Amino acid sequence: MKELDSRKLTTGKGIGLLSGGYGEDAKLKISFEFSPPKSQELEEKLWQAIKRLEPLQPGFVSVTYGAGGSTRERTHATVKRIVDETSLKPAAHLTCVGADKEAIDDVIRSYWEAGVRHIVALRGDPPTGIGTKYEPHPGGYAGSPELIEGIKRIADFEVSVGCYPEQHPDAATAQSDLDILKRKIDAGATRAITQFFFDPDVFLRFLDQVRAEGIEIPIVPGIMPVNGFKGVRRMAEAAGASVPDWLIKLFDGLEKDPETRKLIAASLVVEQCLRLREAGIDQFHFYTMNKADLTYAICHILGVRATSQ
Ligand code: FAD
Repeated sequence: MKELDSRKLTTGKGIGLLSGGYGEDAKLKISFEFSPPKSQELEEKLWQAIKRLEPLQPGFVSVTYGAGGSTRERTHATVKRIVDETSLKPAAHLTCVGADKEAIDDVIRSYWEAGVRHIVALRGDPPTGIGTKYEPHPGGYAGSPELIEGIKRIADFEVSVGCYPEQHPDAATAQSDLDILKRKIDAGATRAITQFFFDPDVFLRFLDQVRAEGIEIPIVPGIMPVNGFKGVRRMAEAAGASVPDWLIKLFDGLEKDPETRKLIAASLVVEQCLRLREAGIDQFHFYTMNKADLTYAICHILGVRATSQ
């Protein structure tokens, strides 16, 4: 057997759990994404997750808006409850789909009146399904830059937007994604959150391209803890996020073994975040899927500690 180099083993100040993960890390910024629940039972589960994650004091928590505006009331109710019952700062997602400007403006105004000061502004997907041609609603906002202008006309909300390390499926070229990102920033966006991805290098390459365009706003990696592999794979295919072969192999044969899947998902997300942290990334947005456990664990490893309320 090859002799081990003990000097390398003891002096290597790498990252990872074996080097102690991260100590308390005040500079790290985190945020969490939740979806409005579809039933009373799911509402209870969502609130268990929110309460478990609240002491980590994220910069904000965002609440998604269902395709075609289908969750408008539920998104509003969830955001309002976060304002009323927690110390968290909610960001409401809003899309241009399925409503004219007047109806969307009413939603924007009602958020401001409810005490919400942050919107994640998105074009949204066509009601006919992802992959079909997007047509703006008659009388509606034409796209995300126009929606941001509309939001800013109503009140001085903080505006975050989406961006796509692996190119949005509708983008003619990677450059057209970057061009629209610039238009969104010109309209008032001050943060972009990425579509999820699995390979940290995909994010880092995209970040280089964004910075080369002179875009300075924070580009926050969207981190997906892969809880149920099948569902995530479906979402990734629809969203244009590549699913690497090595990831498929990792979950191969575990279709009926949720416990092992969860252990693997945890180590995967830990490795992904530690690599990004090592590359200097200091903000993470977690797609929690309304579950706290994996997100809580990775935040702990990254040095985010609960503070008492
Ligand atoms: P944009 O950045 O405006 O555009 C994306 C690409 O599409 C660009 O390359 C652009 O060139 C091209 N494009 C835009 N308009 C047109 C057009 N008219 N014709 C041809 N090409 C065009 N969806 C929801 O329904 N609810 C949510 O809560 C939600 N949250 C999200 C959160 C994040 C962080 C992300 C990344 C996505 C989210 N989505 C959500 C999905 C999002 O709505 C879709 O990806 C949508 O297709 C693009 O929205 P956008 O604002 O990011 O697009």
